Amino acid sequence: MIESIKKSAADMQKGRPPKLLKQLLSELDYLEPDDHTLIKKAYAYSSVAHEHQARKTGEPYIIHPVGVANILSELHLDKEAIAAGLLHDVLEDTVINKALLLEEFGEEVLSLVDGVSKLDQIEHGDIKHHQAESFRKMMLAMVQDIRVILIKLADRLHNMQTLYALDQTKQIKIAKETLEVYAPIANRLGIFNIKTALEKEGFKYAYPYRHKILSSALKRKLGNQKRILKKISTRISKNLTRDGIEHTVVAREKDLYSIYTKMKRRHLPLDKIIDVYGIRVLVGSAQECYQVLGLVHEIYKPIIGKFKDYIAIPRVNGYQSIHTSLLGPNGTPIEVQIRTKDMNRVAENGIAAHWKYKASSNKDTSPQIKAREWLATIKEIQGATHPEEFLESIKVALYPDKIYIFSPTGDIYRLPNKSTCVDFAYAVHTDIGNSCIGAKIDRQQVPLRTVLESGQTVQIVTSRYANPDPSWLSFITTAKARHNLRAFLKDLTIEQTTVLGKRLFSNALNSLGKKQRNIKKEPLESLLQRMNFKGMDQLYESIGIGDKNPLLMAQLLLGDDLENSEKKDRAPLLIKGTEGVSITFAKCCLPIPGDTIIGHLSKVKGLVIHRRKCRHLGTFIKESSRWISVEWSDGINHQLSTEINVHAKHETGSLAEIAGKIADNGCNVEQVSITTEYEDETIDILFQIQVENRKALADIMRDIKSMASVEKVSRGLH
Ligand code: MN
Repeated sequence: MIESIKKSAADMQKGRPPKLLKQLLSELDYLEPDDHTLIKKAYAYSSVAHEHQARKTGEPYIIHPVGVANILSELHLDKEAIAAGLLHDVLEDTVINKALLLEEFGEEVLSLVDGVSKLDQIEHGDIKHHQAESFRKMMLAMVQDIRVILIKLADRLHNMQTLYALDQTKQIKIAKETLEVYAPIANRLGIFNIKTALEKEGFKYAYPYRHKILSSALKRKLGNQKRILKKISTRISKNLTRDGIEHTVVAREKDLYSIYTKMKRRHLPLDKIIDVYGIRVLVGSAQECYQVLGLVHEIYKPIIGKFKDYIAIPRVNGYQSIHTSLLGPNGTPIEVQIRTKDMNRVAENGIAAHWKYKASSNKDTSPQIKAREWLATIKEIQGATHPEEFLESIKVALYPDKIYIFSPTGDIYRLPNKSTCVDFAYAVHTDIGNSCIGAKIDRQQVPLRTVLESGQTVQIVTSRYANPDPSWLSFITTAKARHNLRAFLKDLTIEQTTVLGKRLFSNALNSLGKKQRNIKKEPLESLLQRMNFKGMDQLYESIGIGDKNPLLMAQLLLGDDLENSEKKDRAPLLIKGTEGVSITFAKCCLPIPGDTIIGHLSKVKGLVIHRRKCRHLGTFIKESSRWISVEWSDGINHQLSTEINVHAKHETGSLAEIAGKIADNGCNVEQVSITTEYEDETIDILFQIQVENRKALADIMRDIKSMASVEKVSRGLH
């Protein structure tokens, strides 16, 4: 099957390009001619793969992917995004698989197509009205590359443009979803052309009756307006030509849906809403914008307090323009927008416009780096102004710290990153958490400790007779789950706790390959002695209430680190519940009290403490059962090693001065090394220091940062 697709696609590329493709290529004249090869290939594969499918409109399927690619070309997206637009439905609907996409189109195109397919999988559920916002965030959290969202928006727009072929129930459902989910995303990203187009189609199908009434009312009213607008435009245009300013004057179209929402929001009749003329003047340079401003103020009297200069101070999304309002003929207000053609492109294409700008200057970097770059561009544009919604939505997409999970009934729950099935169960309801025994993700049975990802549907299996398991403490993430679990454990009678602890201890031994009945008396007694327990029941009880970790106790019993325990006995207890256990602090992340931490039980090194943020943990943390949830002891009075990295000017004495600041704070410098020297006479210096806790470290870092020669201070390189 795949081989025959390859062959047909190859044959197709040899022949003359079909009309659809030719048209698309003519829109892609902003790409390098070489880039067209990839587009032609993507077209060939898409058209061969979809060959026997038809759209609901009766047209051949290929119309749709090409339509999507056309919309993307208006945003001037790069060749990978256009190719992915052409291929966006092949994984879902055809025999083409990921391996083939990777082989023929490479990793970047594959990850874009795969990203779009993942979004398609979540959109089939019914989205409840009040959850539209969560759903939008879920979509953003699921993409690692903003181009995936752009392709998805283009896909939705083209589907809206051919919505007439569906029955009315479907039309209304899809149109409402478009208005509530997709148009707001386009708006957030500043892609106004797509936003307006989505709203136009959405309004037509979601509220057919209101749409009909309003549009005919508007047509009647606008007849007169058009003549006056024409007059105003001509007058402005004449004056600009006289002064030798090259320009375009356009009368701004009235957008039906925004009129409708304004009427609804402000409870105003149509007359009051449309009683404003809108005009846009496009010129070549920012300087000319100000010239135009002066000119129009000469022609019509400006309305005081209505002037806004977004050229000098752009909006957070990079939008630039001058806005002013004038008193037109008969005292009707005229809203004038003045901007350059480039500014207009940003205004219409938002994020996509920035994308192009950076992508062309840096060809072979990863999508993430590119995305970061345009994020930086936007920050540059907006200068030091406060971050707002726009940056927020970008951040959600690039650095998601929340995940969004569906319940089987379609409700969306927001949970912190790395949440597990148990965290979800407690998020739904305490009773569900307390009685959960199993979970299904997207209908597949999974262990309760499984870490969840955005977009998954999670079903919790409960049992009336089930109890929470203290061992959950080793993997749950949310405060709610932790709190409830502890509360439950506290309420148990001693007998219940003991029984629970005994079961957990024996499970832990099993997991290490030992049977409890085979354990000799001696090691058991030595364990009890080391823990200061009077008998086994006390051990079980402390496991049952979650004070002692069963796995840790089992490990101790089996004597993995008995040799080390002697000298450790004298050291202060830094980690709760680890009396008698050999503890080391991971060299990769050097945790200090106050850091959120996690322990790894190693056969050789005993319990190794990492920061939760340690990047060496990665995916590995999900897999191993040897990770243990740990907490710092209270009131630790002991210094631990950690590292800070200082980026400073390379000046004589600055090193000594920094070391001085550290000493002033009562901390030892154990080691200093210059790790990087830069061409601009700055250096990175790595200090290994001993410090009591996070607060003390923060104090030191603040002190160092206040030095004139220091540009940046951060927690160690690791
Ligand atoms: Mn599609």
